[in-house]
Amino acid sequence: MAKDTLISIVIPCYNEEKNIDRTFDGLLELAKNKGYRFEIIAVNDGSKDHTWHVIKDYAEKFHEIKGVNMMTNFGQSAAYMAGFDKSTGEYVITVSADLEIPLENLVKVIDLLDEGYDFVNTNRVGRWGAEKASRQAKSGMANKIITKVSGIDMKDRGSGMKGFSRVIIDNLRLYGEMHRFIPDYVSTYGARMIEVDVEFKDRDFGVSAYRGNKRTIKVLLDLVTLAFLIYFAKKPFYAMPGRLFGFTGFVITSLGGISVFYLLVLKILGEDIANRPLLILSILLIIVGVQSMMTGLLGELTMRTYFESSKRKTYTVREVA
Ligand code: UDP
Ligand code: MG
Repeated sequence: MAKDTLISIVIPCYNEEKNIDRTFDGLLELAKNKGYRFEIIAVNDGSKDHTWHVIKDYAEKFHEIKGVNMMTNFGQSAAYMAGFDKSTGEYVITVSADLEIPLENLVKVIDLLDEGYDFVNTNRVGRWGAEKASRQAKSGMANKIITKVSGIDMKDRGSGMKGFSRVIIDNLRLYGEMHRFIPDYVSTYGARMIEVDVEFKDRDFGVSAYRGNKRTIKVLLDLVTLAFLIYFAKKPFYAMPGRLFGFTGFVITSLGGISVFYLLVLKILGEDIANRPLLILSILLIIVGVQSMMTGLLGELTMRTYFESSKRKTYTVREVA
């Protein structure tokens, strides 16, 4: 790593007043010991405690610490985005405020970014105590399913420590609760990716923002969107909705047209066609077919609007010479 490489550390914080000061202290210490040039961006995501006061105090004392105070709780994905938007470093690394992953592990992430990886995921080893067996089973299953859907083999998607190169950050757009699928989205940019084992210890203070069963169900529902987005992101103007829905619609409409023609012939030959189920089926086919073609057209428009209104490109370039 060049001595002056700036590393942006992004920390989303929700009710972390007892943790964030120790996280700052640890990061400043690490930067000093290792000679890293850090820019630390703490995003207060609508905390109900005094997290923002602590962040502001530190931001006044240390020039490398910057604070962003969200107007309300927008969720972890939005907090990441707020931090990414403010970041200027060549590397961007997310860190959870709760110190569940000892900060020394950042060294591993930074070393791998130095090796040329665009995305470094971390796998929290020893995350599960015996009492959490049920949570482990659920989380493990969800992770397996996600891996199947996206084809990206990562052991731990929920880990808060993740490293990115600048090109990925400039393209990454997280909406809703997409932070759970970061490795999968990142893969669509053609990133060089790797996962590294890190230690884990339970938080001393505060509670996890995600508890209970709701999360598992939501994650499974989000998978449908994930599959769709990955498919279109990889080949945006190849699997074009206009072609896909247009072709399907054309076939369905044609079938409807043929059967209507057949009924017309019967009618001309003097048969009664009013009580034939085929009549209803033909009408249905024509309506569905036309709708499908229209959906394809709308899809084309939406996709163009999507790429043109976001900074997201349909491609990512590593370097030019
Ligand atoms: N977080 C946030 N907004 C939220 C929920 C969580 O900024 O709405 C932060 C939280 O303060 C922590 C990180 O995101 O720094 C991960 O959350 P948490 O530790 O609660 O989740 P877990 O480790 O159980 O996945
Ligand atoms: Mg945590």
